[in-house]
Amino acid sequence: MEKIKMTTPLVEMDGDEMTRILWKMIKDELLLPYIDLKTEYYDLGLEHRNETNDQVTVDSAMATKKYKVAVKCATITPNAARMDEYNLKEMWKSPNGTIRAILDGTVFRAPIVVKGIEPCVKNWKKPITIARHAYGDVYKGSEMKIPGAGKVELVYTAEDGTQTKELVHNFDGPGIVQGMHNINKSIESFARSCFSYALDTKQDLWFATKDTISKKYDHTFKDIFQEIYDAEFDEKFKEAGIEYFYTLIDDAVARVMKSEGGYIWACKNYDGDVMSDMVSSAFGSLAMMTSVLVSPEGYYEYEAAHGTVQRHYYKHLKGEETSTNSVATIFAWTGALRKRGELDGNKELMEFADRLEKATIDTIEAGEMTKDLALITTIENPTVLNSEGFIKAIAKRL
Ligand code: NAP
Ligand code: MG
Repeated sequence: MEKIKMTTPLVEMDGDEMTRILWKMIKDELLLPYIDLKTEYYDLGLEHRNETNDQVTVDSAMATKKYKVAVKCATITPNAARMDEYNLKEMWKSPNGTIRAILDGTVFRAPIVVKGIEPCVKNWKKPITIARHAYGDVYKGSEMKIPGAGKVELVYTAEDGTQTKELVHNFDGPGIVQGMHNINKSIESFARSCFSYALDTKQDLWFATKDTISKKYDHTFKDIFQEIYDAEFDEKFKEAGIEYFYTLIDDAVARVMKSEGGYIWACKNYDGDVMSDMVSSAFGSLAMMTSVLVSPEGYYEYEAAHGTVQRHYYKHLKGEETSTNSVATIFAWTGALRKRGELDGNKELMEFADRLEKATIDTIEAGEMTKDLALITTIENPTVLNSEGFIKAIAKRL
C-alpha cells in the first residue's frame, strides 16, 4: 500500500512519562505504517527542556507560528519534587503557559463521546466544548484585608497625572477588598479565537457573563464580543448556518443542563475554570477529553487534556503492566492531521484522520477498552486491554 503523502510538516512536541511511551506506540502502530509522516520534531521532555534552558519550548512555539499546526504530548510542569527527581537547573515554567503566551491563544476542551460511556446528564448527546479566557480577572487580582473602619477607593492615574476615583466601600469595621483587571486586547483575541473556532467546527457559540450586575466590567466583555461579531463574523456565521448567542451566566448554566450539547461555551476565566471541571467530569473521563489551543491568527496546537499519568509510568518503569488510555492523545494527532490536511488541501490526510478516529471509537464500542473506561462503561463484560493491547486493537480495525 502506498503511504499518504504530506506536503507541509506538522510541529511535533514530544513530552514526558507515560504519555511519552504512548506517543511512540501511537506513531509506530497507527501513523507511520500509513502516512509518510512529515514533522518538525521538538523534544519537550523535561530532560531536554533542562538541557536547553527551556529554549526548546520557545522554539517549538515559534515553529507553530511558521507551520500553523502542532501536536503536543503531555509534559511535566516542574515543582519542588521534580527539581530533585530530574536534577533541574531551574523550576522551568509550564510549557503550556509559555506556548500560550507566545501564540496568544484560547484553549478549547471537548469530550470524545462514545456509546457505552454515558454522561451523567442524560440529555447530553453531543460534546460541549468549553472555551476559557486565559487572562486576568481574579487570577491577576490584588487583594487586601481591611483591618477596621475606613474608605476604600479605586484610583486610576492617567499618564498626564489626572486621576479618576470610584468609591468601593466605606468600611465601618474589618472586611476584605479585591481589585482585578482585564485588557481589551486580550478580550478581543479571545473573542476572535472563539468565533474562528465556531466557524471551523460548525458549531454555535454561546457566551455568558454577569453584565446585569457588572455593568462596566462584564458588560465590556459582552460589548467587545458583539462588536467583533457584527464587524467580522456575522455574514460568515449565516453562511455556515451557525449562531452566536449571548445570555446571562446563570441562564446559560440552566440551558446547558437542559441542552443536548453540540456547541461551544465561551467562559470568562473563573467561569471556565469551574465549568470545565463540571463538564468534563459529567462526560465521564479526563482521559477522553481533547484540548486545542487556537490563536487569533489561526495557529492550532492539539493535545490531550490530561497530564503525563505519572503513577502509571512508575508502574511501567518497574516492569508492571499498565492500562493507560491513549484516546485523547490519538485524537490530538487526528486533530492536527485533519487541520494540516485542510490547510494543505490534502483530502487523503483528512480522511485518514476520520478513519483513525472511527477505528478508535469502534474499538471501545465493541467492548475493548482500557481499565479506566471499563470501570465506568455501561457495556457488559468489557475486555480490559493493556496500554499496548488497546493501541494494537485499534490498529487491527484501522
Ligand atoms: P494526570 O497525568 O492527568 O493523571 C491523574 C490521574 O488521572 C492518573 O493517575 C490516572 O488515575 C488518571 N488518568 C489521567 N489520564 C489518564 C489516562 N490517559 N489513562 C488512564 N488514567 C488516566 O495528572 P497528574 O498525575 O496530576 O499529573 C502528572 C503530571 O502531568 C504532572 O507533572 C503535571 O505537571 C503534568 N500535567 C501536564 C499537563 C499537560 O501537559 N497538558 C496537564 C496536566 C498535568 P489512576 O492513577 O487512578 O489510574
Ligand atoms: Mg481548575
